[in-house]
Amino acid sequence: NKKVVLRRHVTGFPTEEDMEITVDTIELGVPAGLTAVLIKNLYLSCDPWMRGRMSKHEDGATVPASDFVIGEAMVNFGVGKVVGSTHPEFTAGDLVWGLSGWEEYTLVTQPESLHKIKHTELPLSYYTGVLGMPGLTAYGGFTHVARPKKGDFVYVSAASGAVGQIVGQLAKIAGCYVVGSAGSDEKVSLLKTKFGFDDAFNYKSESDLGAALKRCLPDGIDIYFDNVGGATLDAALLHMRHGGRVAACGMISQYNLEERDGHGLRNLFYIISNAIRVEGFTALDWFHLYARFEEEMARYIKEGKVVVVEDVAEGIESAPAALIGLFSGKNVGKQLVAIARA
Ligand code: NDP
Repeated sequence: NKKVVLRRHVTGFPTEEDMEITVDTIELGVPAGLTAVLIKNLYLSCDPWMRGRMSKHEDGATVPASDFVIGEAMVNFGVGKVVGSTHPEFTAGDLVWGLSGWEEYTLVTQPESLHKIKHTELPLSYYTGVLGMPGLTAYGGFTHVARPKKGDFVYVSAASGAVGQIVGQLAKIAGCYVVGSAGSDEKVSLLKTKFGFDDAFNYKSESDLGAALKRCLPDGIDIYFDNVGGATLDAALLHMRHGGRVAACGMISQYNLEERDGHGLRNLFYIISNAIRVEGFTALDWFHLYARFEEEMARYIKEGKVVVVEDVAEGIESAPAALIGLFSGKNVGKQLVAIARA
């Protein structure tokens, strides 16, 4: 059983050497007396929140997921096939998604957390992205936190990524005007030609983020779906309209900083003067909506209202590099790793 394990706790920018591939031998079955499910992992999802779990948290904050354990397979969402089960709700052959190990086979001792995959007619890999945790994040955050109205001016950062590409398309479905930013011209072109954003800019080639926002959204921003935090959030706060909403989804620009003093924010006062609602959330807040979300999103995909771009790395050996690539914007679309076929 090949696995990706954390070798040491990480400070600053993660490197491939912080992880290693190890091999152990396992029984291909569920041990007697245990109610569990053995999964053959097919697709591993690379998600930015894994970075936080590579560090040792000593600040006492309450966080939704525990730190990775050194020497053990890292844990994240993925897609797999049940190859053994003593749980009454699962049988060998079931396709599932949920929390699993970064390894070839995982014994899941809390199978209640797994979701059986309903739409097997769609690519299974979609359950790492658009039909999985990132899609649910986009859906919950946009519809329930940002609460769009037709005609709203929406700005999405990290817009071509797993969450951003879905937010942008949901914004178009809701009748909004949507602008995205991303870190390369290739991604900007994808936003406009593939995902239907009304406008987009490459934040790396803009000398003044505020000027770029003013150019693309001269009447201001009603909804900022924030995936990056830092200077981008600061610039957006300055351009929010009265009564605007910031859906605080992620702060990837901050995850590798050793000092996060104030997160580079100078414009917080505009939250008051422009009556801006800033609301954070995690995907875990929306799992109760999953069944409804899955049906709605599958329908959008089939109707062509939502399209998906994935960046698929091949083989478990490529997982560490794929994960690290998220933090330099190497991924074009949802980053995942294909490690086996169903
Ligand atoms: P993406 O697929 O968008 O990949 C990450 C992208 O972030 C990169 O491709 C890069 O795109 C951008 N990025 C990396 N470093 C920086 C930086 N220093 N400054 C600005 N942009 C950067 O990832 P996801 O869609 O999975 O996640 C997007 C955000 O949403 C993350 O902050 C993540 O933590 C958050 N998230 C939150 C969840 C929640 O429950 N609240 C759940 C899932 C995700 P580019 O080339 O455009 O710079």
